[in-house]
Amino acid sequence: MTDIADILGPNGLLAKRISGFSHRPQQEEMAVAVAKTIEQGDVLITEAGTGTGKTFAYLVPALQSGRKVIISTGTRNLQDQLFHRDLPVVIDALGITTTTALLKGRSNYLCIYRMENAALDGRARIREVADHLVQVQRWSGRTSSGDIAELVGIPEDGLIWPLVTSSTDNCLGAECPSYKKCHLVEARRKAQEANLVVINHHLLCADFSLKEGGFGELLPAADCFILDEAHQLPDVASNFFGLTVSGRQLLDLARDTETEYLREAGDMQEIPDQAAVLTKAVRDLRLAFGLDIQRGSWKDIYADGRILSALEQVREQLAGLSQLLDLIKGRGKGLDSCLSRCEQLDQQLGLLCDDTGDEHIRWYETQRQSFRLNRTPLEIADAFQARMAEHSGAWIFTSATLAVGGSFAHFQSQLGLADASTACWDSPFDYPNQALWFVPRGMPEPREHNYIDAVLDVAVPVLQASGGRAFMLFTSHRALRIAAELLEERIDYPLLVQGSSPKGELLDRFRELGNAVLLGTASFWEGVDVRGEALSCVIIDKLPFASPGDPVLQARIDALKKRGGNPFMEFQMPQAAIALKQGAGRLIRDETDRGVLVVCDPRLLSKPYGHVFLKSLPAMARSRDPDDVVRFFDKL
Ligand code: SF4
Repeated sequence: MTDIADILGPNGLLAKRISGFSHRPQQEEMAVAVAKTIEQGDVLITEAGTGTGKTFAYLVPALQSGRKVIISTGTRNLQDQLFHRDLPVVIDALGITTTTALLKGRSNYLCIYRMENAALDGRARIREVADHLVQVQRWSGRTSSGDIAELVGIPEDGLIWPLVTSSTDNCLGAECPSYKKCHLVEARRKAQEANLVVINHHLLCADFSLKEGGFGELLPAADCFILDEAHQLPDVASNFFGLTVSGRQLLDLARDTETEYLREAGDMQEIPDQAAVLTKAVRDLRLAFGLDIQRGSWKDIYADGRILSALEQVREQLAGLSQLLDLIKGRGKGLDSCLSRCEQLDQQLGLLCDDTGDEHIRWYETQRQSFRLNRTPLEIADAFQARMAEHSGAWIFTSATLAVGGSFAHFQSQLGLADASTACWDSPFDYPNQALWFVPRGMPEPREHNYIDAVLDVAVPVLQASGGRAFMLFTSHRALRIAAELLEERIDYPLLVQGSSPKGELLDRFRELGNAVLLGTASFWEGVDVRGEALSCVIIDKLPFASPGDPVLQARIDALKKRGGNPFMEFQMPQAAIALKQGAGRLIRDETDRGVLVVCDPRLLSKPYGHVFLKSLPAMARSRDPDDVVRFFDKL
């Protein structure tokens, strides 16, 4: 086997074969550590600062090992990037022959069975949906993968997608008449045969929580799991180890029942009538929650008679539909599948409504037209450990943001990884010269009524000095809205505000304009990569502590208090430090980037815990003098 140094070293294979490849000692060291972990079947947690080149640092030893490797990333975009861009480059540079596969969640693949029946769905009468259906049908004859990302002309949130993709609820599995040509089945078959498979955390956790029937046989065959963007895992795993019943699931069931009734029965009008009654009950429950988009604890449901009786109605009408479908059991596979879904949803609603134990947090959230009823485990460490134990082999967790003040304790305790080895590689960037961290003087406490005005008083001169080219990252939608309104009159640079257009479009415009100011909340704090001068300044309004009103956070705080712990230091502060690292990490994306980070929150320096935040970020030059900001930009 070729030495890592001969591959990633200054005169290594990659330097010779990839134009623009820069040798990074941190990358080489990380690759050696990953190779050793794979060899010994150990568990390694590693933080690799921005620019380390961690993807190559794990791809090289993973490919060299010749073992079956599963790599899981945070999002589908990263999955595509890794599979289509990075992986072929490394395979080519190493000159090896291997088999690789990309496997996404089922909603990313065309479902031929549903496409063929989509015309029977009432939504197909909507003009836009009908047009998109024609496009999907044409493309279905050309595609070999069935990956809907190939159909770029239809927006990601297009109404057509639920009609032509499957869910675990509505997939007929081996009973499906289209099973032999099913794209999902084919993608899974390829994944089972490949040496290296790229998946995402949602798929990994779906498999772990047995929520993706038929996929469970993929994982036992792997010798090594590499989890990139691992800081996202605890949240994703929490969702999957929990239980959710959504309004959308119930409405889909009612619709599918009507469609299958037309296909397979047609002589028992009570069935579509009952499906319509269920639809109305689900809509009434959404209305009972009120118009606001919110999250609340189950106690709020108990306290509101209107919600309780609407929920009771949903359960009753679901049971009614189940009884009717049972009467014609065996008439058709589609209707039988609807019956199973009825029974499963009924059972899940029972678990949600009747569980009074303290191992789970029960809560709800409302969306514009739907709702989700959730049961989230208070802790996932034991469950995650149990799944890892079922898949022995090497486990590597990596991200640019896992450590808090140099310690991995928070991440380790979330996933039960106390015995894992840990390692940290700092970014190779020259932060003291590339970045200035400005903490303004005289800011009021964030709870003061004039706080947002004070943030803007700091931001406006900074934006003038930077010539726009900035992200303003907020911790709440309310602050974002107020700032967007007030800034309009105070600066001459183009303002791009989250929510005014899809995220991808806003980012494209930001890059094109070159002097814009983009205002965003949570979704812009991470996973956004704008290199070069278009982004030269990141302004953060507050330290990103999660809202204490959040029902899941509140329940975790209460549980920690009950155990005599310190929820602030053990949970809230580490979470906020990771989020701040993510937000600040938008600024310097490569060795030629330069820029100013502004953190307006005075608690950074006034509170004893502030030093943990300071220690968690890269070693930028620091200043409290606004003139230094002006001088910094003058020198660019
Ligand atoms: S097996 Fe499931 S996903 Fe595949 S075509 Fe049939 S219903 Fe669709």
